Amino acid sequence: MGIAHTIVVPHPGGLPYGVVGIRTCFPNAERTLEVTSTVQEPIELLRNCLEEQFQRSTDQLAELTLRSRQRGFGGYDHDTLAALIASARQTVSETAHALKRMAEGSYGTCERCAVDIPLQRLEILPHARFCVPCQCRQTG
Ligand SMILES: [Zn+2]
Repeated sequence: MGIAHTIVVPHPGGLPYGVVGIRTCFPNAERTLEVTSTVQEPIELLRNCLEEQFQRSTDQLAELTLRSRQRGFGGYDHDTLAALIASARQTVSETAHALKRMAEGSYGTCERCAVDIPLQRLEILPHARFCVPCQCRQTG
């Protein structure tokens, strides 16, 4: 318990990275996870992240759906529960999409302009579908 986790993956440019991505994956972790990795490819690290996130959201969604069918929504108020379900559903969909793109070999490129999405962005947002400029155009 309480073991600090470190993942240092050799960066092509010599800089260690990966820690940020892992923190992204376990933002609500109650204890720090001991993660040691000999994985060389950052994409493998991101895949692990996405698979973990997908699994967690799927479980969460199943549980929330169950509660939504219970009398009194299992202690939640209706709006909160609806928001949680929507959020979990979105995460499931986003991570599934990213994993599908990994399987297809198109992961890490912008879906709009096909530019390579910087790794720093993927570490923060492993399911990112667009590069930053395209994302801005998309949402704003
Ligand atoms: Zn783009």
